Order: sequence, then C-alpha cells, then structure tokens
Amino acid sequence: MTLVMKFGGTSVGSAEAMRQTADIIEQFKKEWGSTVVIASAMGSKPVKVTDLLLNGSKAALAGDMDEVTQLLPKLRTIHFDAIEELIPAGDKQTALKEEIDQYLTYFHNICQAISFLREISPRASDAIGGMGEQMSIRILAAYMSERGTPTEAIDATELIVTDDNFTNATPLIDETNAQTMARLKPLIEQGITPIVTGFIGATTDGITTTLGRGGSDYSAAIIGRAIEAAEVWIWTDVDGVMSTDPRIVPDAQTIPELTYLEVSELAFYGAQVLHPRTMRPVMQLGIPLRIKNTFNPDSPGTVIVKERELKAGNIRAVTGIRELSMISVEGRGMLGVHGVAARAFKSVAESEASVLLISQSSSEQSICFVVQQKNSADVVQRLETEFADEIKVRNIDCIAANENVAILTVVGSGMQGVPGVSGRFLGALGDSSISVMAIAQGSSECSISVVVAEDQVSAGIQAIHKMILEQ
Ligand code: ASP
Ligand code: MG
Repeated sequence: MTLVMKFGGTSVGSAEAMRQTADIIEQFKKEWGSTVVIASAMGSKPVKVTDLLLNGSKAALAGDMDEVTQLLPKLRTIHFDAIEELIPAGDKQTALKEEIDQYLTYFHNICQAISFLREISPRASDAIGGMGEQMSIRILAAYMSERGTPTEAIDATELIVTDDNFTNATPLIDETNAQTMARLKPLIEQGITPIVTGFIGATTDGITTTLGRGGSDYSAAIIGRAIEAAEVWIWTDVDGVMSTDPRIVPDAQTIPELTYLEVSELAFYGAQVLHPRTMRPVMQLGIPLRIKNTFNPDSPGTVIVKERELKAGNIRAVTGIRELSMISVEGRGMLGVHGVAARAFKSVAESEASVLLISQSSSEQSICFVVQQKNSADVVQRLETEFADEIKVRNIDCIAANENVAILTVVGSGMQGVPGVSGRFLGALGDSSISVMAIAQGSSECSISVVVAEDQVSAGIQAIHKMILEQ
C-alpha cells in the first residue's frame, strides 16, 4: 500500500524541520510499505522562499535589480545553512551546493531579462516561482539518502501534465495519471521513495507551470489519484482543521473527522488549511485525506472522508471572512422585470470580482450580493452604467454598497434535513445582539452563511462556537 505524504514549507523550513520530516517519512514508510513524498519550498515563518523568488521577479519588473542582487545571498543562506547541517562536508555537499547555485543563477538571469524588457510573462513567473520546490526537494532527498533511505528527487514537470494557464494551471487527468504511474511505479517497486516538487507541473510541451499559490496540497492529491494511493496525508504546522480560528476563540478544537463536502465549504469560506482544489482528485477515488502536524506527529489530526457517521444537527465549524462589501440593487420597478439579475451579474463578471454570497428578496425588489471590498467601487460603477436607463426612470431607486461587512458561516453535514438548526444559529446571534443583514444556505444544506457588520463578526464567531461546544 502506498501512502502519499505532502510536507509544507515549515516542515522543510530548516535543517531541524527536515530531520523531523525525515523521521516521519521513515516511520511511515515502514508502516505502509511505500511512500511518495511531495514537498513545498522551504519556508520558516514569516520568510517563504516562494515569496522571496516572486518578490524578486516583481522588483525586476520595476527595474530594481539591486533588490534582486540582495535577495540572492538571502536565498543562498537559507538553503546552504540547511545543507551544511544535514550533509557532511565533502563531494556530496559541494555538488548539492552547486545545484542550488545553478538555480540561483537561473533566477538571476530570468530577473535580468525581466528588468531589461520591463515585462513579465506568466510563464516567466512560473519558471521563477517553482524554483523553491526544485531546491528544497533536492536537499531533502540528498539528506535522506545520506541517512540510508533510498530516495530520488523528481520534478513534477515529469509527472503532472497541465494546460497552459500559467500561474494557475489545471492538470490534464489522463496524461498525468499515465505519466505519473510510468515514472513512479518502478521506483516504488524498488523500494525507492520519490521526493517530488509540489506546486509545479508542465504543459504537454514541457514548459513549467504552477498550480496556483499554496498548490502543493493540490499536487499531493493529483499524485495520490494517479497512483491510486491508499491515503494522502498533508503534513503542516497545525494539528488539523480547527472548529474555528484559535486567534478568535482560544478553545477552538481540532475536528477529528470531516466529509469532503464539509471541507470544501470550509476551504471556500477562507479556512487557511487546504488549497481549495485539493479535494477534487481524492474525492474521485474516495481516497481519505489526513491533515497532520509535523511538530506534533502523535496527534491524530483531521481525516477527511467520503462519509461519516452523522449526529443530527451537528455543526462542525464556524468561520468568518472579512473585508467584504455587500452591494444591493433596489427598486420597486424591478418587480417582475426579466433579466435584472442576469444583467447585474454580467456587470460583476466583467469586473472580475468574485461573488461570495447572493440573496434576493421574494418581493423581487432587491438583489444583494457580497464581493471583496477591494472590488466594491468598481462593481458599483459598472452597475450604475448598466442600469443608467432604469435609474433615470426610477425603476431602480438605488445601487448601494455597504462596506465593512463580513460573512459568518457554519458548516456541518449533520444539519442536512434537520429542522431548527438555522433557528438555533440565528437565535445565538440574536442573543449576542448581532444583527444579520442577509442570509444564504447552500442547497447541499451543509452550510449556512450570514452577512454581519465586520466589527461584530468576532463576537458572532465566539457565540456560535460556544453553541458548537454545547451541542
Ligand atoms: N510554495 C508554493 C507557495 O508558497 C506552494 C505551496 O507552498 O503550497 O505558494
Ligand atoms: Mg499550504
């Protein structure tokens, strides 16, 4: 049985973290028979190698090569410090350092081209962004071989075939499955642990792409599906998915078990745990996905499965998203008029704002929806242009933005078909004097969201979390 394990930036962020990660890999390789490892770029908070690389490319775009030159020793030190602690001085250490230096030279050269042209293409950005993973896996693989565990460092450009939507590419499933199987299976059969770059893939022409920021989780799920792994584990620096943000509620708890659906709702609503596209590949084969803490490996973490035993009315988690704006289009003249909603959302789509929640009153006299604050002014302006005629004849009275709102969401499959959950939820908010400006429930009945004033969202989360603990 093969276990796919992904290690995030902090899990490979220093020599010490890599040692712990190597212990974990060896332990679970023994228990499961074989493992495939996916790793992110090195990143000990707050410095992430991927950020440094991409910041370098932005500085280059602004013509600031001094900034790029200053980044080079920083990047070198992060990697060389780890190498010097993990690999004894000698030929292997020298060779590994040379490899890292080659990537840094390559980074410098691309930045020079960007600065010269004052232009950055998405593919240049991906070539730069993916280098963090290419460096980190080489160090981890060399270190593990040094410890006596046979490994091979593999660039996912050899495994994950994607479309050419650079910086946010989508894998081509059949090609990826075939290529990954062909490359990894023989290694697994020989007892070699592949150590694969997260985050990157390549087009059918072999040009490096990336799967979007935070995409290493997604890489692990894609590879897990390709080799039909028994489970996929995401090793990170938290114990799992929490019942809410522990900065708001100190007694937030790790949720032991969630369904795919529940987690998708959570990811959508801003829980910072998993890359939002991660669930898809594992869901297709029903592969359990587990979130574990590298720095607390004995904690069971959170396991995400297809189905779990439900306790009626069971709310699992509450989350909040801030810095939103609620936009409403109101007017008595809208009643029974066709196409108002379609035209409104067409305008929103043209602004490239994404809509987080929609609600319309049954009187058809207002539509309201929520977008990110940063898009608010643009969306309002587009709506005013679109509906200029209706505004003139007063069929639409007002297009207004209510800035500084937040969405508070409760998630739990146990709510399905159970009457009274939304009543208890709204009651708890009312008891804390929090007024609800709009409400929406997904048809999956797996989540309910409300719009509240931004300065009330923390109090709302605290009140609902109390309810979760008491249910
Ligand atoms: N290193 C990439 C990023 O920072 C991918 C990842 O860490 O998941 O976005
Ligand atoms: Mg991540």
